[in-house]
Amino acid sequence: MLNYPMESQVQEIKQKIDIVEVIGKYITVKKRGRHYLANCPFHGEKTPSFTISPELQIFKCFGCGKAGDVFSFVQEYEHVDFREALEDMAKIAGVVLKKDPHLTQVEKLHRRLVELNQEAAKFYHYILTTHPLGKPALDYLLNRHITLDTIKTFRLGYSPSNPELVSNYLLKKGFTKAEMLSSGTYGTSRYGNSTYDRFLGRVIFPQSDFRDRILGFSGRILPSDKSQNQAKYINSPETDIYHKSQLLFGLNLAREEIKKKKAVIIVEGEFDMISPYQEGIKNIVAIKGTAFTIDQLQLLHRYTDTLILGLDADLAGTNAALKSIEAADAMGFDLHVIDLQNKFKDPDEAIMADPQFFKTQLSNPVPIWDFIINSALKSHDSTTPKGKQDILRQVLPMLAKISNLVTRSDYLAKLASTIGSAPEAVEAEAKKYLFSGKIAAPVVASSTVPVIPKMDILEEHLLSLIFSAKKPYLLAAKITEHFTFVTPRYQKVFSFLLKPRKNFVAAKFASRLPPELSSVFQDIFLHSTQFEFDSHSRLLEINKTINQIKSITYKDSLNTLSTKIAQAENMGEEEIVKKLEQDYNHILTELSQIQSTKR
Ligand SMILES: [Zn+2]
Repeated sequence: MLNYPMESQVQEIKQKIDIVEVIGKYITVKKRGRHYLANCPFHGEKTPSFTISPELQIFKCFGCGKAGDVFSFVQEYEHVDFREALEDMAKIAGVVLKKDPHLTQVEKLHRRLVELNQEAAKFYHYILTTHPLGKPALDYLLNRHITLDTIKTFRLGYSPSNPELVSNYLLKKGFTKAEMLSSGTYGTSRYGNSTYDRFLGRVIFPQSDFRDRILGFSGRILPSDKSQNQAKYINSPETDIYHKSQLLFGLNLAREEIKKKKAVIIVEGEFDMISPYQEGIKNIVAIKGTAFTIDQLQLLHRYTDTLILGLDADLAGTNAALKSIEAADAMGFDLHVIDLQNKFKDPDEAIMADPQFFKTQLSNPVPIWDFIINSALKSHDSTTPKGKQDILRQVLPMLAKISNLVTRSDYLAKLASTIGSAPEAVEAEAKKYLFSGKIAAPVVASSTVPVIPKMDILEEHLLSLIFSAKKPYLLAAKITEHFTFVTPRYQKVFSFLLKPRKNFVAAKFASRLPPELSSVFQDIFLHSTQFEFDSHSRLLEINKTINQIKSITYKDSLNTLSTKIAQAENMGEEEIVKKLEQDYNHILTELSQIQSTKR
C-alpha cells in the first residue's frame, strides 16, 4: 500500500471516516473504556477478542491475530481487493476517486470475469423471459409456481441449445475467447474451433456472492430433456473467481433479513431457497449440497448465530453432514431443524403443497439434538435391547461431541430416560465416541497459538500498564530508575517514552516509532486500552509485574552461577569459587527481598 499511486486520496479518505463507525456497520461493537470490542467476524468465538482502537484507527483480534486498518478490514470482510475497498470507503467519505489504471493482472482478470458473467446472465435472462427459444424453460418455471417477479429477482435465465448464440453475443460485447474459457462456463468444441456453452439447454441460476457479483452459474435440465446420462444439475467448474464451497446461494438477497430475524434457514438446492423466498420467507440460503463448509459457516457467522436447517429428511446421513453439524456447534451456532415430519421430501415441495404447514413448522423449529434423538426413536424399537443399542449407535456419535458440556450432559440424561437406561451407562457409552476416530475432530479453523516465553508476556503486560496511565511519560521516568526491559523490542518502545512530550497522544507517539516497532506498539496499546485501573491499583500491578520479571532474571542467574560454581570446584579453583559464591548470595538476597514484598 505504501507505493500506492493514490496515497494522498487514501489518506484523505482515512481522515474522513472512523474505523469504529465503519466496522459497526458490519458487526455489533461495544464500547469498553477507551476501545471497542466485538465478536470476531473472522473466526468463530463466543467471547469477544476483536478490539478496535478509535485513537489509532486500527483493529486487532487477539483470538486469531487478524489486524489492520479500516481498508484491510473491508477487504477481509467483504472479500474484495484493495481498490474495491477503497471505492466503498470513498463513497462513505464523499471523496471522488481519480481514475486509477494500476490494477494488478489478477485484479484485472477478476473484474473481466465478473463483467463477462454479468453479460452472459443478461443474455440468458433475455432468452428466458423474452425470446421464443426460452418458451419451454419459462413454461417449466411458471409450472413450478415461480413468478416472473421472482425470475427477475434471481436473474434466472435459459441457455438455448444453439451452441454459438451466447459466445457470439459475448464476442460482440468485446470479450475474447480466452476470457470465455477462463470463466469456466465455456469450452471449445473438439471439432472445429467453436466455443460451446457448458449449460446448453439448461435453466440458468446465476451464483452471486453476497455483494451481488455473479461468480458462476448452475444449470438444471428441463424435465422434457430426455437425453441420457445428464446430471440434473451442473455447476461452473472452479475458476479464479468461482469457489463453490465459499458461496451461499441467495445470500446477496437474504443477508439483511438474516440480520433482522437473527436466524438463517439453510436449505440444499436453488428451488428450496427460491420457493420459500417467494412466499415471504427471506432469511434463507442454499448450500447446494447436503453439508455446509467452514467457509460458509464463517460467512453466516457475520450475520447470525442461529441456524435453522431445512435439509432433506436424512439430515445426518453422511459423514460430511455430521462433520459440518459438529463444526457449526463448535463455532457456537445454535442449531435447529425444520421438522417436515416426513410428509415432504424438501422445503420446495412443502411450500408448494402446504405453505401454511411449512410456516408453522418453521416458527417452531426443533433443537437439533432433540431432532436427532427423535428420528432415532422413530426408526428403532426402544423397548428391546437390540433397539436400544441401535439408537445409541445412531445418536451418540453426535451427542458425545456437543461442545457445551451442560447441554451435552442434559441431552445424554434425556436420552437415557427416554430409552429407560441408567444415565451413567449412557454417559460411559458416549465417552467411547468422544475420542473414537469415527468422526474427525471439528475442522474449525483454530489459529495455532505460538508458545510465547513467559518473560515476553510479563514485559508486554508491564508496557501495557504503563501506556494505560494518563501520563505514561512521567511513569516511565520513574520506572527507568530501577528497571530495564530484557526483551529488546520492548526496551526500544519504552525508550521512546523516555523522550517526554507535553501530552501523550497515541497516534502521535505511534508516528514517531520506526516502522518495525509499529505493530509491537499497536498490540501493546490495544491491550492497554482494556485496563480500567485507578492510579493506585495500577502502581501495585506494575510493581508486582516488575518483581515477577526480576524473579525470573534472578532465578536464571542463580542457575547459571550454580553451574559455574560446580565447574570451578571440579577444577579446584578456590578463589573463583569464593567470588562466584559471593555473587550467588548477593542475588539470593535480592530475590528473597522481592519475594517477601510480594505479600
Ligand atoms: Zn479473530
